[in-house]
Amino acid sequence: MVIVRVALAVPLHRLFDYRWLESSPVGVGQRVRVPFGKGERVGVVIAVTAQSEVPEAQLKDACLLDDDLPPLPGDFLRLCEFVSTYYQAPLGEVMLQALPAGLRRTRTPHRRCIKASTHQAQGSVPAPTPEQAAAVAEILGAQGYVPFLLHGVTGSGKTEVYLRAVERIIDLGQQALILVPEINLTPQLEARVRARFPAARVVALHSEMGEAARERNWCAAFAGEADIVLGTRLAVFTPMPALGLVVVDEEHDASFKQQDGVRYSARDVAVMRASMAGVPVVLGSATPSLESWSNAVQGRYRKLNLTRRAHEEASLPAVTLIDTRRAPLVEGFSERLVAAIETRLERGEQSLIFLNRRGYAPVLACGACGWVSRCRRCAANLVLHLADRRLRCHHCGFEASVPVACPTCGNQDIHPFGRGTQRLEQWLCERFPAANVLRVDRDSAKRRTQWEAMLARIQAGDADILVGTQMLAKGHDFPKLTLVGVLGADAALFAADCRASERLFAQLMQVAGRAGRASHPGEVLIQTQYPDQPLFRALQAHDYPGFAEALLRERAQAGFPPYAYQAILRAEHPEMATALAFLNAAAGLAEADRSGITFYDAVPMRMARLASLERAQILVESVSRRALQAFLPVWREAIAALRMPSRLRWHLEVDPLEF
Ligand SMILES: [Zn+2]
Ligand SMILES: [Zn+2]
Repeated sequence: MVIVRVALAVPLHRLFDYRWLESSPVGVGQRVRVPFGKGERVGVVIAVTAQSEVPEAQLKDACLLDDDLPPLPGDFLRLCEFVSTYYQAPLGEVMLQALPAGLRRTRTPHRRCIKASTHQAQGSVPAPTPEQAAAVAEILGAQGYVPFLLHGVTGSGKTEVYLRAVERIIDLGQQALILVPEINLTPQLEARVRARFPAARVVALHSEMGEAARERNWCAAFAGEADIVLGTRLAVFTPMPALGLVVVDEEHDASFKQQDGVRYSARDVAVMRASMAGVPVVLGSATPSLESWSNAVQGRYRKLNLTRRAHEEASLPAVTLIDTRRAPLVEGFSERLVAAIETRLERGEQSLIFLNRRGYAPVLACGACGWVSRCRRCAANLVLHLADRRLRCHHCGFEASVPVACPTCGNQDIHPFGRGTQRLEQWLCERFPAANVLRVDRDSAKRRTQWEAMLARIQAGDADILVGTQMLAKGHDFPKLTLVGVLGADAALFAADCRASERLFAQLMQVAGRAGRASHPGEVLIQTQYPDQPLFRALQAHDYPGFAEALLRERAQAGFPPYAYQAILRAEHPEMATALAFLNAAAGLAEADRSGITFYDAVPMRMARLASLERAQILVESVSRRALQAFLPVWREAIAALRMPSRLRWHLEVDPLEF
C-alpha cells in the first residue's frame, strides 16, 4: 500500500496520512487533493511510505489535482521547513501561504502562459561611480553564499549596484530575486528594471495583483522562464530553479515582517534562502537595521559602502533644527519654514512637508466636559477626517459621522486637537493660494493607480508643495525637490518601545534624503523642542554609523536584541483577566526545559484593546538563540495541551518587532 504523508494548512503541528490509489506515481512536493473534515483541501506531499500508524480502515484517499504543475522542488520544501521550525508555525500553513491562491484550491483550471513583454530600452545607462563599481565587483566576485550589507547614503545609487549585479546574473542564464518593502515602491523600480533589461523576462509579485496575474508570474518563476522576480515579502518563497542572486532593498523596513498568520521576517528568510541555495545576498539600506549592522560590524556580513551621492553635483542636504521653544508656531509652522517654502515657490522648486499622521486631527474633544473621540472597540482615539467628515479608527477601521455637538454634554463648541496631513494641506492652500498643494498619504493614494498618477504629477513638476506621510519618504527621486520640512517628530522621541528611535532615525534620514538629489542643493528643516537630542545631532552630521554604535551600546547594556533573542506569547480575549490567566498558566509550563531562558511577567500589550479584544503578552528571552529555539517547541506543545477558555486566541511570535 502506498501512503502519502501530507502537510495541510491547518493550525496543527502534524502531518496527515492518506492512501494513494491513483495509477500514476506520487512523489514528495506534489500537491494533492484530500478530504479533510467536511470538505476537501489541497495539501503537499512531504513523504511517501508503505506504512501508517493510522488503522487502515480509517485512512482516506488522496487524489490527483487536475493541473499540470510539477512537484514543488526540494529547496522550496526545505525553506518552508526552516520557517516552520524557526517561527513555530505549522509546516502546511507555511507552504500553502507561500503559494498563489489558485494553487491552494482543489478545483481551478490551471492557467499557464507568460506575457511576452516588449519594453522601451533605456536611452543611456549611467557610468558607475568608483564606489558603485567597487561594490558590484565584490558582489560578482563572491563564490557561493556571501551575505553583503550595502550601506549607501540616500541618493548614492544603491539600485544601480543591484542592477549591475543582476545584469551579470541574467547574462549567465541565472535568475535574480529582488525584494522590496512595499507595493508603493514597486512601480518605479519595476519600470526601471524593465527599461534597463528590455530583453529579459521580468515578473512582479505582490499582494495587490490580481490572482490570475500573480499565479502566472509565480509559474513563470517556478518554470525558470522569468529572469527577474521583483516582489514584496511573500515573493521570498517563490521557487526559482536557477536562482543566482537575492537582493533585499531597504532591508531595515518593518514591512518585511509579516504580522499575522505565519509571522516571519522576509529579510531573514531571504538570507537563509541564499545560504541554502549557495548564492550571494545583498541587503541594501541607508539606515540598516541594528541587527544587520551588528552582523556587518562583527564580520558575519561583508559591508559595502556608498558614501557619496551618485549625481556628481549633488551633495547631502544641510539639516537645520528649528527650536520650537523659541520659535513660535502658527498652525504648526515656524516662520523660518514658511519663508523657506516661499523661497522655493519663487524659484520654481518643490517643497515636501513631512508629518507621519494622516487625517485632519488626531482627536476631537469637548473643552466643557473633557469628552474625547475614543474608539469603542480599541484603546485608541478616533481620528477626525474632514475631507469626508468622518471619525475613523486607524487601528480597527471603525467609522462614525462627526457629531455636531458633544455626545456627553451637548456643548456645540467641540474642537479638533493636534494636526494631521489634511489640516496642514488646508492651511498651506490658504497661505499659498497660487501654489499647487498635493497631499500624499494612504487616504489620498488608496489605490496603486492613484499613487502612480500622483508620482507622475510630482515628477512632471505639477505640484509645488507636497504634504505627506512616510509614503513619500522612501525610494523616490524628485529632481525639483529641494526643501524638506519635518513636523511632529518629537512624539516618537520618547516612546517606550526600544526600537522607536531606530525607526525615527531611519524615517527622518529617508525623508531628508529626498531633498537635493539632483543639481540643486537640498535643505532640511526639522522643528523640535529637543534640538540637543543625540538623534538629531547624528542626523545633522549624516552619521548613521555613529548613531548605530551609540544605540548598540545602549542595547548591549540593556540586554536587548541583537544581544538577546526574543519570542512573545500573545493572547486575545474579550476579557483581559482571562487573557492574563491563560498567559500565567502558560508561564508555569515546561519549567524543566527552560535553562538559559528568562521569563517576563504577563502584561497587557501597549495597545491593550483592539477591535473589542483585550490583548496581553509574555516576553521570553535568551542570550542563546539555540537555547530559545530548543525551548519554544516544547513550550508550544505544552500550551497547546492546556484547556482553552472559549474565544481565547493565542500565538507565538519569534523575533518580534512590535510590543
Ligand atoms: Zn462635552
Ligand atoms: Zn478601533
